[in-house]
Amino acid sequence: MHDIPDDHPRAASLRLRAAIAEHHATGLVAETGPISHGRGEAFDYILGEDTPAPVHEDIRASVALLLQAKHPVISVNGNAAALAPDALIALAEAIPAKLEVNVFYGRTEQRERQIADFLKTHGAKEVLGVNPAARVPHLTSARASVDACGMAKADVIVVPLEDGDRAEALVAWGKKVISIDLNPLSRTAKTATLNICDNITRALPLMKQAANELKGNASEIAKLTASIDNKKSTARVLAFMRERLATLEKELTA
Ligand code: ATP
Repeated sequence: MHDIPDDHPRAASLRLRAAIAEHHATGLVAETGPISHGRGEAFDYILGEDTPAPVHEDIRASVALLLQAKHPVISVNGNAAALAPDALIALAEAIPAKLEVNVFYGRTEQRERQIADFLKTHGAKEVLGVNPAARVPHLTSARASVDACGMAKADVIVVPLEDGDRAEALVAWGKKVISIDLNPLSRTAKTATLNICDNITRALPLMKQAANELKGNASEIAKLTASIDNKKSTARVLAFMRERLATLEKELTA
């Protein structure tokens, strides 16, 4: 493990980076995983490494969608597993939703099993997506593989750190897609039914908390799902970023 002092001003961010590096070395994180992580870090800097106020509303709405779903599934790739294994499992239990391994770069049965086994060592009882037989229509290559009992059957899918092509193909397949992506301009974030513009490590515990609060409150759940408008949510996040940059600029020139 990397030796990051608690009082280092960037300790939390460095720990996440260390987790990506450590799991890249074991093969859990894909070759390009550190690049995706770096892109996320850059956007997190703009957010001030905190969940933006409007995103708290998106988190509640996304959880309402999950609680309304008949077959909710949480998709897990190498980066997500490396950064937040316990929070992924806790959210899956709180909804309840199924966990499914979903690897697009370097998909092999060995890597699928490695991610599933890693989640199981963290307490997951069931992890789908190892050597799956179903396919996402209109997607070629190994990225098209999905579990017949998981994403193929799902009506709502959470896709943290998803690739744009797959997100588009899932939406075209009729799935409601909740993405967790720090880049509000990514194709995934723009295509999703609703994007949560936040770090996965902050968003997942907030989602679990919202699930516990909303469970059983059918009228609030219906109100929240009816309010979902990804374009409006993305515009709010972009406005938040613009205002934050303007404030930082003013502070420098005051
Ligand atoms: P697209 O194909 O959707 O336009 P992309 O090519 O950037 O996007 P990837 O690199 O496959 O897609 O996906 C990584 C995405 O995940 C990036 O948009 C990045 O901002 C985001 N990301 C990386 N780390 C995190 C994190 N810890 N929490 C939330 N989002 C993250």
